[in-house]
Amino acid sequence: MAEETIFSKIIRHEIPSDIVYQDEQVTAFRDISPRARVHVLIVPNKVIPTVNDLEPQDKVLAGHLFAVAKKIAAQEGIAETGYRLIVNCGADGGQEVPHLHMHLLGGERLKGFGFNA
Ligand code: 5GP
Repeated sequence: MAEETIFSKIIRHEIPSDIVYQDEQVTAFRDISPRARVHVLIVPNKVIPTVNDLEPQDKVLAGHLFAVAKKIAAQEGIAETGYRLIVNCGADGGQEVPHLHMHLLGGERLKGFGFNA
């Protein structure tokens, strides 16, 4: 069993957070240190430390992260204006919390990614 992080406590509602969506597979909550007007983290309820730890049986769950991202983008009113989805992996990827999560960023014109500078 992979070690739990603070995200597991958030998922179990043991510590406060601004949860915007939750179902049996994933929980989505606002980032404590938002990098854009909308910054939501979409997190599998079970602990999967990084993308490297995804197993074939997690395929549906991995796809569900995208489905939930789409749903929250609509909920937040940014589906039409656009948004960015980011999954960091490991040290070079800048991953700080070893519990797989997808960042949903939007609500403003995003910069700083290089490709669209
Ligand atoms: P990473 O760098 O691992 O891809 O992203 C981790 C994210 O989790 C960061 O953007 C950070 O601000 C956020 N974060 C860390 N601790 C907490 C917390 O206790 N509550 C919330 N809501 N977000 C957190």
